[in-house]
Amino acid sequence: MKIIAGNWKMNGSCAGLKEMAVALKNVMTDNKIILCVPYTMLNCVQADNFALGAQDVSAHDKGAFTGEVSATMLAETGAKYVIVGHSERRQYHEETNSIVRQKATAAINAGMIPIICVGETMDEKQAGKTMAVIESGVRESVPSDSNTDIIIAYEPRWAIGAGLTPTEAEIAEAHKLIADTLSSMGLSGTPVLYGASVKSTNAADIMSIPNVDGVLVGGASLKPDDFIPIITSVK
Ligand code: PEP
Repeated sequence: MKIIAGNWKMNGSCAGLKEMAVALKNVMTDNKIILCVPYTMLNCVQADNFALGAQDVSAHDKGAFTGEVSATMLAETGAKYVIVGHSERRQYHEETNSIVRQKATAAINAGMIPIICVGETMDEKQAGKTMAVIESGVRESVPSDSNTDIIIAYEPRWAIGAGLTPTEAEIAEAHKLIADTLSSMGLSGTPVLYGASVKSTNAADIMSIPNVDGVLVGGASLKPDDFIPIITSVK
């Protein structure tokens, strides 16, 4: 069983999500499907054979934080998952590992499963810092007392939305490091997804790499014709 998560970013509509839900009804799979959609779409459909998630959450529980949405509010919609620390949040909203950890903790406290993203920028890659950035991303973004379900997503930031992917050897090395780091934190068995430019033509190969427990898919998760072949490419 693999985890196939979609990140719609700021795209889509209620109508589009309803179409996706209808299309997913006909998909025979043992894989776990998660769709992380904009907040306003969380109440659009009854998610039967897939789960809904959000793409961000406030680190705070309630109060004077205009525009923010708390984990308790998200959980009330029935959403089970929330992405935290996505590269676009880190880039455009200056989210640090410390903020990401606070958000992950808020999600866990509300009974949700955070999908915690880590990954290196192109500058960091070129400076030879990929492994250090990944390891500190995991150590500093994952709540240390996590004794509950979490998911990690390794997303090389330079490859997201760019049609670029690391080599299979690079993905394997990164996922081995993440698995070892999680194990040293007492969190072995935590699923680790790969994300960045996953499509139907590379999904099966990527998911056959050791320690890759699934994928986080951006652009190719928006339309059933692109997303469903990714789900069915893994038996
Ligand atoms: C993402 O946004 O998490 C992502 C992986 O995007 P894409 O698949 O479009 O690269």
